[in-house]
Amino acid sequence: MLTIALSKGRILEQTLPLLKKAGLEIADDELNSRKLILDTNLDDVKVIIIRATDVPVFVQHGAADMGIAGKDVLLEHGANNLFEVLDLGIAKCKLMVAAKSSDHLNENTLKVATKYVNSAKRYFEKQGQSCEIIKLYGAMELAPVVGLSHCIVDLVDTGNTLKANGLIPLDHIEDISSRLVINSASFKTKNTQIKTWISAIENNL
Ligand code: AMP
Repeated sequence: MLTIALSKGRILEQTLPLLKKAGLEIADDELNSRKLILDTNLDDVKVIIIRATDVPVFVQHGAADMGIAGKDVLLEHGANNLFEVLDLGIAKCKLMVAAKSSDHLNENTLKVATKYVNSAKRYFEKQGQSCEIIKLYGAMELAPVVGLSHCIVDLVDTGNTLKANGLIPLDHIEDISSRLVINSASFKTKNTQIKTWISAIENNL
């Protein structure tokens, strides 16, 4: 049995067609059910659909053999005990620093609101910029507007969310897309099956 962990939400919409092309389908009634472990068209493959941030955790501990997660989540998690084997080129966006204007970055200690605590810390450390990270779980764009922070670190796709909140993208931290990750032990014990899936997915990108 092979278990694949998929991220809920915007990544899922782009992941399902990609898996279908590789030969793996989940029926609509499975997807619309309240089940947490879903059957697929194949007897030896099950799918779990979980929060994006939980995907590397399940794969790291071997509760899922493979997973699909955003590079943003993998960078933040640290990605131990798992191999990142494929860039799927879906759910593309950029991890960026944004503020009301570049003047707002001219602070001795920059207050940064983000859910990407580790990535933000690493970035500003590399820049030699002292910072205070304020961890938020959503609506980061609000923080500079209400004076909670000088800037934010967040994902930017079209830039519309920033614009609607009077913010502009300033520094580019990372290009983000979804990646296929494999538990390192599963890669050895289920090598043939996993390699077949990697090829099937890669050949249909
Ligand atoms: P946009 O307005 O198109 O720039 O999208 C920005 C909003 O969508 C932010 O709240 C982001 O956190 C979120 N977002 C954009 N791209 C992604 C992605 N690939 N994965 C997850 N969230 C995203």
